[in-house]
Amino acid sequence: MENELRHRNEELGQFSSIAAHDLQGPLRNIRNSVQFLAKRYEGQLDETADQFIHHIVNAAGQMHQLVQALLRYAETGEPNSALKLVPVQEIVQAALANLKTDLEQSAAEVICETLPLIKADASQLFQLFQNLIGNALKYRSTRRPEITIRAVTQYYGWLFSISDNGLGIAPERRDEIFAPLKRLHGPEIPGSGIGLAICKKIVERSGGRIWVESEAGQGSTFYFTIPSA
Ligand code: ADP
Repeated sequence: MENELRHRNEELGQFSSIAAHDLQGPLRNIRNSVQFLAKRYEGQLDETADQFIHHIVNAAGQMHQLVQALLRYAETGEPNSALKLVPVQEIVQAALANLKTDLEQSAAEVICETLPLIKADASQLFQLFQNLIGNALKYRSTRRPEITIRAVTQYYGWLFSISDNGLGIAPERRDEIFAPLKRLHGPEIPGSGIGLAICKKIVERSGGRIWVESEAGQGSTFYFTIPSA
């Protein structure tokens, strides 16, 4: 049954990857054509025509972002089979360096406790931390962001956590957010809803688990486990 399930999953993964790839071409055509229409004819047709053109430009832009998000999800593969010992501290520092502008603009305080050396795929681990720390910043409340990154050793391997004092998540919605394209926030906070689905894929393919503990308005703690190799 496990083999059958794995096979079906692979098929589904290939299908979504091909579908996303194949959607890119026609979508590019729609975007180019409608952008041309907007540039060439805006103001020359009546107001309703201008509004329709505007709607199509926006919808094509949104669809482009969705397709890109699906491709990123589909391209997140198995961890590199030649796993190396990776200093998690350095991975987290690299993710923080990438988020430097947001960290500075929000005057965030980041507490990074002692982090271990683990066997992992470094680029996937980087993506995992970058998504989770990025979200901790993005879904901040009016309070100054405080983010704590911690690792504790367990009998099965390591338990990592990323805590924030941000907007939090209602208990009944905690499982939904790991599904591809699922968002709890509107366009006022930009995003594609794919980041946590990628995190889940990375963690589960390493044999671990990811979950969140949170209360709306009280901040969130995302946990993930990485079993010993
Ligand atoms: P995105 O951030 O692009 O919307 P994600 O998959 O990273 O996509 O997150 C899915 C949803 O989970 C977000 O839209 C947001 O509603 C919620 N979320 C994620 N991280 C946090 C967080 N640290 N605090 C509050 N809500 C969060």
